[in-house]
Amino acid sequence: MDKLHEECGLIGIYSKEYQHLGDKLHDALISLQHRGQESAGMAVYHDGVMIHYKNMGLVRDVFDEERLRPFNGNVGIGHVRYSTVGSAERRNAQPLVVEFKAGTMALVHNGNLINAVEIRKKLIDDGFSFTSTSDSEIIIKLIAIHYKSSAIAAIKQTLSEIKGGFALILIMEGKLYGIRDPYALRPLVIGKTPKGDYVLASETVALELLGAEVVREVEKGEIVEIDENGINSTIYDDSKPKSLCGFEFVYFSRPDSDLEGKSVYEARVELGRILARRDKDKYDLVAAVPDSGVPSAIGYAMESNTVLSSVFYKNKYIGRTFIDPTQEQRERMLRLKLSIMKEVVKNKRIVIVDDSIVRGTTMKDLVHDLKKAGAKEVHVRISSPPVKFSCFFGIDTPTKKSLLAANLTEKEIEEYTGADSLRFITTEEFIEGVGLPEEILCKACFTGDYPMEVPKTHNKYVFEKY
Ligand code: SF4
Repeated sequence: MDKLHEECGLIGIYSKEYQHLGDKLHDALISLQHRGQESAGMAVYHDGVMIHYKNMGLVRDVFDEERLRPFNGNVGIGHVRYSTVGSAERRNAQPLVVEFKAGTMALVHNGNLINAVEIRKKLIDDGFSFTSTSDSEIIIKLIAIHYKSSAIAAIKQTLSEIKGGFALILIMEGKLYGIRDPYALRPLVIGKTPKGDYVLASETVALELLGAEVVREVEKGEIVEIDENGINSTIYDDSKPKSLCGFEFVYFSRPDSDLEGKSVYEARVELGRILARRDKDKYDLVAAVPDSGVPSAIGYAMESNTVLSSVFYKNKYIGRTFIDPTQEQRERMLRLKLSIMKEVVKNKRIVIVDDSIVRGTTMKDLVHDLKKAGAKEVHVRISSPPVKFSCFFGIDTPTKKSLLAANLTEKEIEEYTGADSLRFITTEEFIEGVGLPEEILCKACFTGDYPMEVPKTHNKYVFEKY
């Protein structure tokens, strides 16, 4: 499907008790699977021993009962990956685990470093070697290099050298660390179970699954250190404005998660209501592009008092996907994945709601197929502003030349897709729908107003050249 892709999902657990953590990490990773489907891994520590395993595939494919059995300990981390720097191969899967001066360290990372090329080049010039082509290895290497006797000092020194949007979870010296970049671009939340175990996760859905209550978000520029005494906080950089990824509300986060205390589902419903308020015409039915358009289609239907109907049947049993699909392969996949219920659409004036348009290829095919199936009119409503700019903070975005809205006006997009009408939500309406103060949200992929200076282009395979 035509989507931006989140890079990764993270989970971390600290318990005072030695216990079987494998099942808990496994379940939490399943709840975060939507954030990355290329690889999965986990590491569990106890008393100087780190057990770890990672491989390509979905969590259910990587970890069966037997594989999970040895994951006993009191500190654990886990990761699901969708690559934004470095190709999709096992050596780039996480956790990354290294032996260093203070024992064994494990790290999971969600995000992108924008100065990774310079740092990696310098380290290679200084004689260091790398085993992966992801930017995450730079972080763990720097922490190991800077470690003298204090974990916090080594982490702080590393954080003063890296730039970008990131959330990190580490196991070091038997403690669990959670870190967010100085803008809080990538999400990370802290939870606590009734038994007193601490949980760090990319999304609140993983906390709920583990029976943990939300304690609070890890703040911008904060390191939280969790051990038997509880949480110790260090603010390493308080100089930057908060800039939480607005696209988490559009697509990345699960609708049953909360961000900054806001329900993602309710924000999406509200965005659908706003789209409906702008429409003067009345249509026969409204339908969602499954599954991402569902909450906003519900909002649209409620606000406009229009029948909400399923017009697409989604086949869940599609195994194979193409890494860089041709147009022909893309169309074939779409037909395998979504089929149209002809009797529902025949002679109807239909509104279809989706969360975003990136390349526009899927929407063009859907409009074409709906009309071919007999729809009288197809009106497209998109619950995010046009995506006109690439993301450099941990999202797999096509280059600007492949972003439809970077190259065509809204009228031209309407013509390109063949829709009878097509409307995006405006940036102002998006902020209204999300319901958080504008100044704490990153909207750079809509506006080009990046919270920090960014490189000219994003090259996912930049380190494959070394
Ligand atoms: S540019 Fe877009 S996708 Fe990237 S962090 Fe900002 S809002 Fe999120």
